[in-house]
Amino acid sequence: MSKTIVVTGAGGVLCSTLASALAKQGNKIALLDLNKSSAEAVADKINKSGGDAIGVEANVLEKESLIAAKKEVNEAFGGCDILINGAGGNHPLGTTSNPFLLAEDLLNKEDGFKTFFDLDPKGIEFVFNLNFIGTLLPTQVFAQDMVGQTGCSILNVSSMNAFTPLTKIPAYSGAKAAVSNFTQWLAVHFSKVGIRVNALAPGFFLTDQNRSLLTNSDGSLTQRGNQIIEQTPMGKFGEPEDLVGTTLWLCGEGASFVTGVVVPIDGGFSAYSGV
Ligand code: NAD
Repeated sequence: MSKTIVVTGAGGVLCSTLASALAKQGNKIALLDLNKSSAEAVADKINKSGGDAIGVEANVLEKESLIAAKKEVNEAFGGCDILINGAGGNHPLGTTSNPFLLAEDLLNKEDGFKTFFDLDPKGIEFVFNLNFIGTLLPTQVFAQDMVGQTGCSILNVSSMNAFTPLTKIPAYSGAKAAVSNFTQWLAVHFSKVGIRVNALAPGFFLTDQNRSLLTNSDGSLTQRGNQIIEQTPMGKFGEPEDLVGTTLWLCGEGASFVTGVVVPIDGGFSAYSGV
């Protein structure tokens, strides 16, 4: 494979690993992130180990910023062949304090306690925008390079909570369900112009976003962390490297007739009813 690959959210834990693995295969990697220094740090690491990468500042929620990023990418590496829409995440304002509503919760005046009725529409909007609009806009900007070319594809990053929502995070679950649905829609829409569209649905990976929810300061698991491990037949969290094989497959010629799939990489979490 020797393609120009644009990765959004590339300064983050999961996508920096994917970007490094794709660079090792001889691809040119444009690392886009809101946080320019984290994108540049990953690019430096790739370049020092013999790869070819650039770090580019871009906000996946602003078309102008993406158009400016595309100009930089095109000047450095030519047209984009593959886009990985990795930027995404949750927000505390879109999260309830408890998994289930109890009648007495309505009387709880504890600071920061949030029932479904307290959820701030701004928090919900933030999460929907980051995950869904943040997938749609980069696709509008970068997929233009791919129309009519060969070997082009888009890889979105959904989540296993798109199949069955997780408790407490209605916005993130709904937003990732929208990403999965959009993956199928786009696969059909782009089917005549040579662009395949698929998605990863990662299970639980310990990252800075969820570490404090899943582990205590001494490294032991929180109640939610324990619940997740019990619900994961393989009995562990994923490592970022666990996403690499599926990514190389879906972005490569081996998947030349695969489009519109959302692949769970979750140690069996989404297959298990708990019984
Ligand atoms: P991360 O927080 O480590 O990385 C996300 C990156 O996106 C950060 O570098 C951040 O600066 C960047 N970003 C945020 N807003 C942006 C914006 N507006 N424009 C451009 N860049 C922006 O997260 P991660 O855990 O590596 O997650 C990567 C993807 O995987 C996300 O879509 C996430 O929802 C998804 N995911 C993660 C897990 C998990 O367990 N960590 C599970 C399922 C899905």
